[in-house]
Amino acid sequence: MATVCLSGTLEDKLVAAAGAGFDGIEVFEPDLVASPWSPAELAARCADLGLAIDLYQPFRDLDSTDPATVARNRRRARAKFDVMAALGVDTVLVCSAVAPDAVTDDDELAAQLHAAAELAGERGLRIAYEALAWGTHVSTWDHSWDLVRAADHPALGLCLDSFHVLSRGGDPAGFTAVPGDKLFFLQLADAPQLSMDVLQWSRHHRLFPGQGAFDLPAFLGSVLAAGYAGPLSLEVFNDVFRQSDPARTAVDAMRSLLALEAALPVDPLVLPPAPALTGHAFTELAVDGSSGPVVADVLGRLGFAHTGQHRSKPVQLWEQGSARVLLNAGAARPADGEAAVVALAVESVDPTGSAARAEALLAPVLPRTRGNAEAELSAVAAPDGTQVFFARTGPDGWPADFLPTGETSAGAGLTRTDHVGLTQPFDAYDEAGLFYDSVLGLDAGSGSEVAAPFGLVRSRGVTTPDRGVRLALSVSLLRRGGGWAPGVPDPQHVAFATDDAVGTARALRAAGAPLLAVPANYHDDLDARLDLDPALLADLREHGLLYDADADGAFLHLYTEVLGGRVFFEVVQRLAGYDGYGAVNSPVRMAAHRRARQETRAAAPSTRSR
Ligand code: MG
Ligand code: MG
Repeated sequence: MATVCLSGTLEDKLVAAAGAGFDGIEVFEPDLVASPWSPAELAARCADLGLAIDLYQPFRDLDSTDPATVARNRRRARAKFDVMAALGVDTVLVCSAVAPDAVTDDDELAAQLHAAAELAGERGLRIAYEALAWGTHVSTWDHSWDLVRAADHPALGLCLDSFHVLSRGGDPAGFTAVPGDKLFFLQLADAPQLSMDVLQWSRHHRLFPGQGAFDLPAFLGSVLAAGYAGPLSLEVFNDVFRQSDPARTAVDAMRSLLALEAALPVDPLVLPPAPALTGHAFTELAVDGSSGPVVADVLGRLGFAHTGQHRSKPVQLWEQGSARVLLNAGAARPADGEAAVVALAVESVDPTGSAARAEALLAPVLPRTRGNAEAELSAVAAPDGTQVFFARTGPDGWPADFLPTGETSAGAGLTRTDHVGLTQPFDAYDEAGLFYDSVLGLDAGSGSEVAAPFGLVRSRGVTTPDRGVRLALSVSLLRRGGGWAPGVPDPQHVAFATDDAVGTARALRAAGAPLLAVPANYHDDLDARLDLDPALLADLREHGLLYDADADGAFLHLYTEVLGGRVFFEVVQRLAGYDGYGAVNSPVRMAAHRRARQETRAAAPSTRSR
């Protein structure tokens, strides 16, 4: 773990890295410079924590066309070699020069690298030379290898950094041309596919393996196939990680390494497999005395029946088709009057195996208090705090904890839970994608961005391969308080599937469900853009349905108003193979929710401002 990945001071970073189970660190020079510890004290602290110091980095702008600068750099190198000796680290990262006086003659550059390696070698130290993707003269790994080969010194080898290689479209297959003992160090980072200046991309947007778009299993496989035997080190510059809880970031980082090793093409790390997840078992909402009746009333108008009452807890089971919602009045709950999605249960073919997988990937396994007759449910905490249960719905499973009420409902055509939408804390968005991908075996989509009334919203779906389980994760860059602001800073929703959105909408309207009004401008725009069948368009207008289409199919959906300050329900119909969530419509939905809140507030000025 490079200390540059983590937030805080060097002391915080060491504790976090050790706590997450890392074997060693890269000391990022600015962290040391800012530390009151002497290098020897840092070495002692690392030893106490069981951390090796595997790399000292970076040594910048080693080479120069200016003889005076070359002389100064030799002095600087000697001073840093003293620091390294005190730290007990034998390898320093020298990155390709970015200064205007960088050497551009390869023979001269190889000579200067040879001279530096001679200095290092005299001290028993090694130089790992890394091509920065934006180096003045050397910016590709193959060029750095040409120079290391030409310099031909035993104390000089390569540092391969996946970002620098893959951001420039480098081919890892070429690593096999490098003798393994010339691969001195390996730094791993992922990144989203962005079209931007490569330095900005690197400094602000790197991610842990599995969180971005790079094929790191193939990359690492190539490095290992070339004979590399050193540490797998993470070097991730990321604006969010640099200001997040370092202990959490370190666990996220370790999870990324475990998942990466398990995905290696050859000799992978063996983890407990992720058992198949076949659907949503239930979604649990925490409610209180004021939000509970509101949500229960709306569930009734959506065609759900209160079918069960928990044997030992104030928990109601509401069902329609295989869509199930628990209203829990006994859970730790948020602010007064609120309802919140606190748990979701997924059907696992092997709940115990799912929990074992989660534990192996460092997901916090939650303790369960249970009464005599209650089925055991394994649960882990997702990065946003949502409890994820691994359930098996059947006579011997969790439903046995509920006594039947005898209540039934004709229903409104809702068949199952289609997805659960959860706003993620800003710090947890990338972590959540990797969590669901690695721990639960879901596929994280690349996601989209929409300009919403209160700012940019990013969202992505995470799904099982057969789409039986779907989560829609979203995040906002900033959430500010204040009178003008959204009022629902972290909305959540549960979406139910229907095979007949128009018929369901008609039934909900007849039952007095609080459906969100959609402005006429929206449907006018749909007509202009998509030239829909007039009969369909008329139905959409009449029932306040939203519409989207992708390459495969189409999506009809509607929303309720926000209930209890945060949660709303959605009804969706997927036509053909539509695979999205109607994200393009979310600004319209957000504006409508805002308008509905203002109307509620105007009608009841004494209620809490939302
Ligand atoms: Mg690097
Ligand atoms: Mg949705």
